[in-house]
Amino acid sequence: MTKEQGALRYPWAEPPAFGVPQTVADGIEWLRIPLPMALDHVNCWILSEDDGVTIVDTGLNTSKTRDMWRAALGARRVKRVLVTHHHPDHVGLAGWFQAEFGAELLMPRTGWLMARMLTLDVQERPVPETVAYWKAAGMAEDILAQRMSERPFNFADGVAPMPLGYTRLADQDMIQLAGRWWHIHMGDGHAPEHATLWEEGGPLVLGGDQLLPSISPNLGIYATEPEADPVGDWLASCERFQGFATEDKLVLPGHKLPFTGLPVRMRQMMDNHRHALDRLVVHLDRPRTAVECYIPVFGREIGGSQYGFALVEAMAHCMHLVHTGRAERRISEDGAWRFVAA
Ligand SMILES: [Zn+2]
Repeated sequence: MTKEQGALRYPWAEPPAFGVPQTVADGIEWLRIPLPMALDHVNCWILSEDDGVTIVDTGLNTSKTRDMWRAALGARRVKRVLVTHHHPDHVGLAGWFQAEFGAELLMPRTGWLMARMLTLDVQERPVPETVAYWKAAGMAEDILAQRMSERPFNFADGVAPMPLGYTRLADQDMIQLAGRWWHIHMGDGHAPEHATLWEEGGPLVLGGDQLLPSISPNLGIYATEPEADPVGDWLASCERFQGFATEDKLVLPGHKLPFTGLPVRMRQMMDNHRHALDRLVVHLDRPRTAVECYIPVFGREIGGSQYGFALVEAMAHCMHLVHTGRAERRISEDGAWRFVAA
């Protein structure tokens, strides 16, 4: 093995400017769309066919993003919009492309149902189930009080209304895009039923957030499904993907830069969580809430705008230890869940 083999490599050292399509393969362009958050961009892909284009992922529903898409597409016809998973930075403009361009929406069924449900579920204040979940995670009292008095982020704040109707992408399906056939493989953990597309007989992989190079996708538990095990789902998906994640693949990811070195990256993505779980079980030598576990899970305390992402992910790691018999959960009278090593 040479030194370069087994490492991640980035064929494009720099991303393209926001809103300026860059060709990465015959008939495939990379469009970088800005996001107003710490992770400041999402990668979208334009796949050209004779009679129009298929867009893969969209960015958030803002006037700036819509203008950027109009400029990038010019006179091209948008036939289809394919969404890898239901998170707002990926699905934000799907409904707009359907309504304004007559595009067909292709999505995994769970993702479409989640997106459609969440766009309709607008709340002025956090619902009681969400408050109970935050208490279960041990949210600091001042943060809890503040959140209870504020309008929460609503999915519909970043996602255009979604018309009824879509076309399902299912695991093991094949689809033709940009003159190539692609295998669809579903992942789990970051989002339920996350589509990845693998070029038949070629190196290209549209990875969404399931296959990212330098950042680890958030694995979170939410009030919608407090007993979920997204860390277990994630690890199982990585193990399944290892079967076809070969060295020759060029991944076009949902964030950061296209990369090769997928076998190494799959191992890293699993090891990140396995090592966090090992540190966590040591930390649980006495009962602790999820928010008391930021240091073993992330290596540091986390506050500010990242506090909520850290909470759902710390909870996911604690619950994975429960699901695998390595920890127990004790529910206190104040509603907090305290975890302790088994
Ligand atoms: Zn994303």
